[in-house]
Amino acid sequence: MNVESTKQGTFADAAGLLAAIQPTAGGRDIKDPATGEVVGRVAEPGVAELDAAIEAARAAQPAWAARGHDGRRTLLNLAADAIEANAEALAELLSREQGKPLNGPNARFEVGACAAWLRTTASFELEPETIVEEDGTYAQLFYRPLGVVGAIGPWNWPMMISTWQLAPALRMGNTVVMKPSEYTPLSVLALAKVLNTVLPAGVLAVVPGGPDVGKRLAGHPDIAKVMFTGSTATGKAIIRSSADTVKRLTLELGGNDAGVVLSDADPAAIAEDLFWGAFINTGQTCAALKRLYVHEDIYDQVCEALTGLARRMPMGVGLDENNVLGPLQNKAQFDIIARLVQAAKDSGARVLTGGNPDENQPGYFYPVTLVADIDNDNPLVAEEQFGPALPIIKYSTVDEAVQMANGLDAGLGASVWSSDTAKAREVAARIEAGTVWINKHGAVDPRVPFGGVKQSGYGLEFGVEGLKHLGAPQVITGAS
Ligand code: NAD
Repeated sequence: MNVESTKQGTFADAAGLLAAIQPTAGGRDIKDPATGEVVGRVAEPGVAELDAAIEAARAAQPAWAARGHDGRRTLLNLAADAIEANAEALAELLSREQGKPLNGPNARFEVGACAAWLRTTASFELEPETIVEEDGTYAQLFYRPLGVVGAIGPWNWPMMISTWQLAPALRMGNTVVMKPSEYTPLSVLALAKVLNTVLPAGVLAVVPGGPDVGKRLAGHPDIAKVMFTGSTATGKAIIRSSADTVKRLTLELGGNDAGVVLSDADPAAIAEDLFWGAFINTGQTCAALKRLYVHEDIYDQVCEALTGLARRMPMGVGLDENNVLGPLQNKAQFDIIARLVQAAKDSGARVLTGGNPDENQPGYFYPVTLVADIDNDNPLVAEEQFGPALPIIKYSTVDEAVQMANGLDAGLGASVWSSDTAKAREVAARIEAGTVWINKHGAVDPRVPFGGVKQSGYGLEFGVEGLKHLGAPQVITGAS
């Protein structure tokens, strides 16, 4: 039964959800990256629709702000309920469009994270800060709504990253216009459809389209702030587009996270966390482990443990409950992985497993690939691969490992692995990255601020700090 039932805010199934977001005629086909089958169609009306959505969001914003923190909290919690009520339909559509399996840290996990992020973001307290209160003077710092926030997202975690952007923006009294990736618009349209069963009209809109729509959003005079997650190259373009209207920006850009395994780590104990640190979402994750530095004393054991795991993890079509790894989301990303692995092979590096995709299959599947005995300046190390190919580099001294970890322009995340937590924290303090995890990698938490340094971007998301980035700071000061 493909009937929409907005009264309860639930949709019968993925087909019902899809029916509710598709154009009645026309549109562009969206294909399943695992099979090549058409998942659905998306209408892409372009810049005129974007302007209309921004105008509607501008009109809706004062009433949304007037609900106050408590009123908005209530609605964000109801929005989380709506996601949970539609979780299977959302996960299935996400799996088909993005390619990620239902199981493992993938589609169901992503949908669950959307609800969790909304609830946690609703729960934060943000009181005015009293900065000075003495000698007859006071100064207080408030965070007011900004207005309309524009959100531009990537294709790897389309629902979760959209939620990272919209949850704090809405909580702070802003309305939101989103521009999803052209590769995964259905996931974001479906998420918004579910959220909009409880949110007031005009508060949250999605306008699908390509870079032209993104560029217009980033330069639109009625957009107060842009939340952007995507590549560093596009982040730079957005800085330029936003300059004339001096917009606030949060830029979560590309990463090339290093993991440093110290000599006292236990290879068998850390192998599984290392594996998922690198291969969550089949490696298509901003803060995935993308370069692994292992001390020479345990290098062979770590390589062996990871190879064993890589060979056991099932990869395939997402809707098959057995699989935990999926295809690359698109051909361009498949080609990047193929090029980088080829460059590693050409240099004489040792492929421990993978490296030979089956060219007869319909999807963009690239097997998990581990590459050992590789130089630090090899392209597979120096460029962000964003897929299932991990270079493992041997080092002798901690100084050498830290120097290699800090040697790139990217600084999103990093990790240190050791049986001695105090020693690991000392090494962590020397690494140039926005987050350094100890004995895990990439584990984000809605309470804990997250953001990059260097060319991985600026601004913080999550936690109370993340809320502050979605508000306009205002000081009120005078005689007390
Ligand atoms: P991308 O930069 O190609 O596209 C991201 C979005 O920007 C898309 O919606 C696209 O349509 C839009 N866009 C393209 N050109 C634009 C322009 N000139 N102006 C405005 N918008 C424009 O990124 P992608 O390939 O979708 O995502 C992969 C990249 O994202 C990787 O580098 C990854 O590391 C990064 N990423 C970072 C984080 C993080 O939190 N730091 C999270 C996920 C992904």
